[in-house]
Amino acid sequence: MAIDVIDKSTGVLVGTVPADDAASVAATIDRASTAFRTSAWRRDSRLRQDVLLRWADSLEAAGGELVECLLAETGKVRSECERELAFTVDALRFNAGMGRLVAGTAHELSDGSAGHLIREPIGVAAFIVPWNWPLFLLFRDLAPALAAGVTAVIKPSPLTPLATMRAVALAPAELPESAIAVVNGGPEVGQALANHADVAAVAFTGSTAVGRSVAVAAAQRFARAMLELGGKGASIIFPDADLDQAIDGVMGNAFITAGQMCMANTRVLVHRSVLPRVREQLAERVRSLRVGDPRDASTDIGAIISTTQADRIQGYLDIARSEGSLLLGGQRLDLDGGAFIQPAIVSGERIDVRLRSEEIFGPVVTLEPFDDESEAYALANDTEYGLAAAVWTNDVSIAWRAARALRFGTVWVNRYNRTFAEVPSGGMKSSGMGRTRGFEGVHEFTELKHINFELGTRGDTP
Ligand code: NAD
Repeated sequence: MAIDVIDKSTGVLVGTVPADDAASVAATIDRASTAFRTSAWRRDSRLRQDVLLRWADSLEAAGGELVECLLAETGKVRSECERELAFTVDALRFNAGMGRLVAGTAHELSDGSAGHLIREPIGVAAFIVPWNWPLFLLFRDLAPALAAGVTAVIKPSPLTPLATMRAVALAPAELPESAIAVVNGGPEVGQALANHADVAAVAFTGSTAVGRSVAVAAAQRFARAMLELGGKGASIIFPDADLDQAIDGVMGNAFITAGQMCMANTRVLVHRSVLPRVREQLAERVRSLRVGDPRDASTDIGAIISTTQADRIQGYLDIARSEGSLLLGGQRLDLDGGAFIQPAIVSGERIDVRLRSEEIFGPVVTLEPFDDESEAYALANDTEYGLAAAVWTNDVSIAWRAARALRFGTVWVNRYNRTFAEVPSGGMKSSGMGRTRGFEGVHEFTELKHINFELGTRGDTP
């Protein structure tokens, strides 16, 4: 059995990968488990550092090839694929030495014994990845996990396995055999990973519904689940903000990957006093965006991942059309075998709850007014998601109150969608659990063990 991979902007077949089944997934996990138990990998943080650094170099050297691969299989524009590769390389380089910094604590305990708390790598970890940023979303979690000393089984989306297969093939020869492997397939292969007794941790990035089923499968056998799920990112624009800066921030982040991004700035809440100006400028900017061939340097927005996804987005646009809130855009432009949608703004006093609270995952931004701070925070929080939000103001008190009131894992002030390998991030509510990046990202893949020494020093110290 094989999985055909098509170019999302042309419909042309660009590759085929072998499909796995439950038996081949089990055999792969078995090999990763043996590599974890028998190789030097989990004990030698210096080896891991060398491997991650060399891997970063080889991905960088193969840059053009990987970028073309990403462009074809995702349908997104080249500049985004280049950024994705740069973030991937940065994740490897940043985490390379982290394994050498993993430390425990020592305790002189109440009975005179010595307690050593150490962190041990958790075992075999599975990585289940979505299609929108396939390399980066993998390496964001994989690099800290490898630094911690796990061995890994990776499942890319069947829509976008090519860049991942290529990147794993470029791993340095010093990597112990079977320490990293890729399995390919859809839900059955994902479930086979989540259900397998020898997978100690599952790092899942994808939709909230599937994340829930992965978490349930992991919980059944008390395995760890780290979940990076859907989002409904909001920008709150106060009247004192630098409006040009705020509009730039929204425009730079609403339509990335044609809006098919968890962090996308899909909601804009604007103080009523400045709404007409913001609406007018946003509309002008959105009208000027070019949709089409992602290989053309003048294109701003590439293809939608599939016709099914484009149909789903259209369903939301139809709600906007029927309630009269579609300000502009939203036309379907199926070109050259790919699905494309003109970016849209939906605007109204209070637009349909599905439009303002559900994840559309397409090039659609909603624009709504608010009158005071508490209304702004209540509106922004009125969604099951809690991944990322931004507040735009020059008043530090408002910025602080907003940041504390918003139930989102990341809150930016006067910027949007800046993430760093060194700072943990993740979601609240239905946007997930666990944190990726930074020390927390490494610690997620370790177990704390207490080793207690009877020292024979009971009583007074001499
Ligand atoms: P998806 O949930 O359909 O699939 C994600 C991965 O899970 C794929 O590899 C898929 O094959 C696999 N899968 C599907 N069904 C499965 C099952 N029953 N058991 C185990 N694995 C299964 O998501 P998608 O459509 O690929 O990606 C879009 C979603 O990902 C959006 O909701 C988006 O917000 C989310 N996402 C979140 C983040 C984040 O960091 N929070 C980043 C990117 C995307």
